[in-house]
Amino acid sequence: MKILVINAGSSSLKYQLIDMENEAVLAKGGCERIGIPGGKLTHKANGQTFVIEQELPDHTQAISLVLKELVDKQAGVISSMDEIDAVGHRVVASGEAFKKTTLVTDEVMATMEEIAELAPLHNPAAILGVNACRAVMPGKKMALVFDTSFHATMPDYAYMYAVDYDDYKAYHVRRYGAHGTSHKFVSGEAAKYLKKDIKDLKIVTCHLGNGSSISAVKGGVCIDTSMGFTPLAGVPMGTRSGDIDYAAAEFIFRKKGMDLSEGLTYLNKKCGVLGISGVSSDFRDLAAAKEAGNDRARLALDMFAYSCKKYIGAYMAAMGGLDVIVFTAGIGENTPDVRADAVSGLEAFGVKLDAEKNRQKNDGEIHDISAADSRVKILVIPTNEELVIARETAALL
Ligand code: AMP
Repeated sequence: MKILVINAGSSSLKYQLIDMENEAVLAKGGCERIGIPGGKLTHKANGQTFVIEQELPDHTQAISLVLKELVDKQAGVISSMDEIDAVGHRVVASGEAFKKTTLVTDEVMATMEEIAELAPLHNPAAILGVNACRAVMPGKKMALVFDTSFHATMPDYAYMYAVDYDDYKAYHVRRYGAHGTSHKFVSGEAAKYLKKDIKDLKIVTCHLGNGSSISAVKGGVCIDTSMGFTPLAGVPMGTRSGDIDYAAAEFIFRKKGMDLSEGLTYLNKKCGVLGISGVSSDFRDLAAAKEAGNDRARLALDMFAYSCKKYIGAYMAAMGGLDVIVFTAGIGENTPDVRADAVSGLEAFGVKLDAEKNRQKNDGEIHDISAADSRVKILVIPTNEELVIARETAALL
């Protein structure tokens, strides 16, 4: 069975064609600058990279070009579109409308339109991607795989905000979380790697990238996560503030003469480690600036690691113990200093890092970086959200 995984952004579209027999990636790539001048497709297959520069006025044109490449004599990996058994679409937010991976129908897409405002930067793009695929591949089975699904198991006392309950009921305002496919994948991989039944494990998964979220996974299900109604909450991120007293944010908005929408843009795009350091949202730049003596870069890195540590501790308490900490995504997989700082001082709780193993370069494999006498295993696990989307889609069929 071959599954095409689609991750559509407002002006981009990433894809992978995965053979589920051996979970091998047959081809992958992405379209950039959809709907704006300078369209481009980068396609990787058969050990080569193919670049096509061509205007892509909309997502339908983009997906048409992708399919043309997939069946192309030189760049292609299949002989016809019939070889694609189904398409799995990544969707950021499901609200309370969908709790699990869902087959695309007209009715489902009508509901998707209704809940689009929950993730205005992401969900409308996913709808464009689905509609484009339905136009180009009519009749093909398609699934929506939600970033929020893995968090649907959170108990009410974990997902509720302490607001007027009637407002929760009316507007469905609550914690939904994000990066669910990644948290699901790495917690599953951790259990496999340790040769343990996931039902017996208490795992904290740290997905640390440009956007970061931390989850408590007890017995294989998520019981809490750091992102909230939107991906603005939790630890400080590349450009997002993370948790903040709303009154402090409103105070800044008022002082700077920002309306609420400008204020939200400020919290999403101008804060986080970029705002603190004034240097960059990229952790490689921050590390270099800190090395050169920039104290605000040092502060940004310290705040990030401290916040991660607080979530690890909080989730240890929420789960009544801890067996495994997993680091994943761009920062989690590549930045030993962040990992070391995030778990330093937790030795009394059985968390002990092996400094040497922690320095190991990311080679795309799973690494155990805990000391031999650490009760809690500390693992670095490369995430693979596309594979989860493909697996979920295949399982639905
Ligand atoms: P992501 O959103 O998962 O792509 O992660 C992006 C973040 O990961 C950025 O802050 C990068 O600085 C960091 N990152 C990605 N690759 C590396 C690397 N090879 N070394 C250090 N940091 C990296």
